[in-house]
Amino acid sequence: MPERTIYLDHAATTALDARVLDAMLPFFTTEYGNASSIYTLGRHAMQAIDSAREQVAEILGCRPTEIAFTGCGSESDNLAIKGMAFASQKKGNHIITTPIEHHAVLHTCQYLERFGFKTTYLPVDTYGCVNPDDVGRAITDQTILVSIMYANNEVGTIEPVAEIGRICRAKKIPFHIDAVQAGGALPLDVAALNADLLSLSAHKFYGPKGVGILYVRQGMRLLPQLQGGSQERGRRAGTENVAGIVGAATALRLAYEDLPQTLPRIIALRDRLVNGLSNIPGSHLTGHPTERLPNNASFCFENVEGESILLNLDLLSIAASTGSACTSGSVDPSHVLIAMGLPVELAHGSLRLTLGKGNTDEDVDAILKVVPGIIAKLRGLHG
Ligand code: PLP
Repeated sequence: MPERTIYLDHAATTALDARVLDAMLPFFTTEYGNASSIYTLGRHAMQAIDSAREQVAEILGCRPTEIAFTGCGSESDNLAIKGMAFASQKKGNHIITTPIEHHAVLHTCQYLERFGFKTTYLPVDTYGCVNPDDVGRAITDQTILVSIMYANNEVGTIEPVAEIGRICRAKKIPFHIDAVQAGGALPLDVAALNADLLSLSAHKFYGPKGVGILYVRQGMRLLPQLQGGSQERGRRAGTENVAGIVGAATALRLAYEDLPQTLPRIIALRDRLVNGLSNIPGSHLTGHPTERLPNNASFCFENVEGESILLNLDLLSIAASTGSACTSGSVDPSHVLIAMGLPVELAHGSLRLTLGKGNTDEDVDAILKVVPGIIAKLRGLHG
């Protein structure tokens, strides 16, 4: 049995950084005050949240008051999209997005359609790229929001969000970026990105699960989606998760401090994975060849099922992912790969490997050693 799991699913989640845990621990034990309480213990909690908000604002290049903490990336997306839609009903009912978004965006748009909102899903090319000109062409006098992801969670393609933001800004249409996969890896300067709303999730950058961040540009009016207290400047009711918020901010700060060391290493590992797996007959790199997340190596293999590859890797203590999803007994191919125009058969054979700072050259060696054999074996079984 291999001694440890080779974890290659950092797009799904990451391990908590030990330094982040250290920063969080006091807020579970001695500093347990409610940030709304006026006595010292409560004030300490509020100071910790204020300081976390400042750290996040510094990385995003915005005012601390423009940062709201939420319960996850999905909640940030929901608050941005529903909050903006319901607050803008008098202006219009049209939302523009893409078919390759995370379900936190797609299902939110579908939910809004029940209330009379209409969604335009812009096409993407075979790399999963949106054409910014299509955004400009799709905007109507009813458009109230454009929501496009910074980088795709399955294939890693980086979208031209700054250019899309420029077009939206010129037409005075609010622009939301789902930056959940970009957090800790790509620049997050909201001014350079022309973002009005931007979502992040702490567990994607070595922070705790259950903490989201939403940047809300000053002047954007959102209808809150949770009723109750007036926490987060009335944008999100509920006693603040102080330890989680401290963890999210610490993790984000450390991720960008560490980036000069971690980035070149991860890119080199990814390039080895991409080059090695490209040699397997019938393999296709998915996503953009260069405009892709530094840690993402995603492929489709002809005549195999992604789940079968995963199960075989799991037997070797290797954790990876496929775009296909098991729903009610049958396996649906990834909506992302289908929107990119991949044939359904090929989309069934998807494998996503996403690296993190703990991965080593030996991990890549192990993958390159076992994957060709697994695929050959599965194709043999397939006939
Ligand atoms: N958006 C994208 C692009 C994601 O990849 C994810 C999670 O995988 C989410 C949103 C949802 O984030 P969370 O798991 O924190 O709800």
